[in-house]
Amino acid sequence: MNDPKRISVLGATGSIGDSTLSILTEEGANDRFKVVALTANSNVKKLAEAAIRTQAELAVIADETLFDDLKRALQGTATEVAAGQQAIDEAAAIPADTIVSAIMGAAALAPTLQAVRQGANVALANKESLVCAGELLLKESETHGATLLPVDSEHNAIFQVLDRRERVEKLILTASGGPFRTLDIEDMIYVSPDQALAHPNWTMGAKISIDSATMMNKGLELIEAAYLFRMDERNIDVLIHPQSIIHSMVCYDDGSVLAQLGMPDMKTPISYAIAWPHRMPVPGVERLDLAKLATLSFEAHDPVRFPAINLARDAFRAGGVVPCVMNAANEIAVESFLRREIGFLSIVELNRQVMDAFMSQSGASNAPSSFEDVFEIDRAARQVASDLLKTHAA
Ligand code: NDP
Repeated sequence: MNDPKRISVLGATGSIGDSTLSILTEEGANDRFKVVALTANSNVKKLAEAAIRTQAELAVIADETLFDDLKRALQGTATEVAAGQQAIDEAAAIPADTIVSAIMGAAALAPTLQAVRQGANVALANKESLVCAGELLLKESETHGATLLPVDSEHNAIFQVLDRRERVEKLILTASGGPFRTLDIEDMIYVSPDQALAHPNWTMGAKISIDSATMMNKGLELIEAAYLFRMDERNIDVLIHPQSIIHSMVCYDDGSVLAQLGMPDMKTPISYAIAWPHRMPVPGVERLDLAKLATLSFEAHDPVRFPAINLARDAFRAGGVVPCVMNAANEIAVESFLRREIGFLSIVELNRQVMDAFMSQSGASNAPSSFEDVFEIDRAARQVASDLLKTHAA
């Protein structure tokens, strides 16, 4: 039997973190995996419990003020403890075979970069890092021999059925349509954070749940797919499929369409990414029963109801720093919506305004030449978004 794979989970206390840890603590998982580092932002209790459960070598909390709490919680165990953003980056640089990148938002970019630089297999759940720095991250992966393994269910599905790349005509990203697919358009202005958080098919972190409700998530995924699979954005379609059973499709030039199906459970794509190049059994996933489901339905995406997808297409076409700007604006807008400072429709509106503000500047379409440039643009776009927000809130 092979040595267990050394694996780290960045963002171990989130929704993807939960699903990953549940795989890593299944019976027999000890023979397959050895947990190296687990990280979180501020949830000390959950991080400490996860470290104990997995006998992790290291637990890192981003919030430095919580170092002593984490130390206390892990006293008497063999798990080492660290705190601070830099410690998260260092955790990602500790040699491992596979690193799960599941921190929320652009905050994942710096640690993901460290994971890539050690030439590891990077099970990439975080999409924002690719949206912000797609070209740079792909180049860095190539330089260091890292492999990006998509965890996002749509991209994982495509990865599973993508065979002869040169024969691919287009990709179809499926989308559930979120909680407001059939709501009267006039009522969308009034939706509350609680309504927007209630995704019909998936249980996810707050930010991605709101992104799913605005369909900004599908916009971010479109950019993610364009980078990961080196596809022109015009050859990536979005198809509404409310049941979330077909996770995406690849259309070939002989008329064949290959799809990956399964119950909506992130454990399937996570297991595929962390077991790659093999598959592993995941007993905890409900099996698909198509006779019981009986119907799978599809509809075209409505760009009036959900302008976010075309916004993302515009950002990707504009290139340069624009996708990073759009992402930063969106993170700020979503936080503000969750704090009930702005309305639901203002999220995408704000993203457009911030993008326009940057696109009117010369050089916005020039590709960022370094990761430092990306971090700088991310900061600047957040500032513009925060300033504009004051107008929206007013
Ligand atoms: P959650 O909000 O549930 O979890 C986020 C994780 O990141 C937590 O561990 C959190 O720690 C940590 N974190 C947040 N901010 C920081 C920071 N500044 N520094 C360090 N750690 C931080 O998110 P999800 O698990 O839902 O999503 C994670 C990523 O995966 C996102 O990019 C999302 O788009 C992507 N994804 C998620 C899917 C899902 O089903 N949830 C599906 C496909 C992709 P703490 O708990 O302490 O706050």
